[in-house]
Amino acid sequence: MKQWRERLKEKKRIVVKIGSSSLQHPETGDMDYIRLEVLVRELCNLKNQGKDVVLVSSGAIAQGKKAVHPDPSHMEKNPIAVKQACAAVGQARLMMTYQKIFAEYNQVAAQILMTRHTVDNDMNRVNAQNTFEELLYMGVIPIVNENDTVATHEIEIGDNDTLSAIVASMIGADLLILLSDIDGLYTDDPRTNPEASFVETVEHLDRHFLQMGKSSTGSGVGTGGMSTKLTAARIATASGADMIIANSRDIRIIHRLVEGRNLGTLFLAEKQENFDLPAFVGGLHEKHDSKGETS
Ligand code: GLU
Repeated sequence: MKQWRERLKEKKRIVVKIGSSSLQHPETGDMDYIRLEVLVRELCNLKNQGKDVVLVSSGAIAQGKKAVHPDPSHMEKNPIAVKQACAAVGQARLMMTYQKIFAEYNQVAAQILMTRHTVDNDMNRVNAQNTFEELLYMGVIPIVNENDTVATHEIEIGDNDTLSAIVASMIGADLLILLSDIDGLYTDDPRTNPEASFVETVEHLDRHFLQMGKSSTGSGVGTGGMSTKLTAARIATASGADMIIANSRDIRIIHRLVEGRNLGTLFLAEKQENFDLPAFVGGLHEKHDSKGETS
């Protein structure tokens, strides 16, 4: 509906999430500098309109692997340690690249790395909230990722769709944009079901929509799928933010969305005054843990 898209123009605090597959060349897995550059330009332009902007960026593990080429047999023996070492290398590389490009637009960027403790420990959460507030007040663009180097299963959030919604909730954002390799929500998987139809707006995120979640995007990179996007939508909308799933094929979609154009799937905010973020996130992991999944 037109008026819902129109109100996107008024958003003041925007979180944008981009996944690993949207930042790299599919042929090689190496960073796509043109896409990174366009992303940074779009974010700086939102900032120049007086909006607060936060970026949640994946890519640490993928870029670390590209840098150190871990030995496959070693990786098989120590998968977690190798992944964490790769994240340590890749996160630094990713930030170095972001810092350089943001600097070209005279924009200061900061790094915030989180784990599940940042949500469920009251002191950590309040500290993180204060840091975000201060950075945004200073006009800085925070770049957030999971702290993959220390986050093993027990303390990990697990995917950046959920992480970005947690960030949106913690900072009281009014819009979360999830950039992905799909156009948005379909009634079924469009790659396998030609009858699947596109959902433009989700006014009320009920069981009917939640069942449309599928567990894979098919890109083979990153950890997000439609089910994590719907979890993100539950957190974001209950916290009072609109959320959009949109295709990152052309990253300039960011400004088109904020101009109110009818692209992607828009989930309307339905603020629940008693929404308890730590309890919700704790509940997600209890479910995973009891099923023995490694998420
Ligand atoms: N935190 C991971 C990384 O930066 C990615 C998680 C995700 O894509 O959801 O490599």
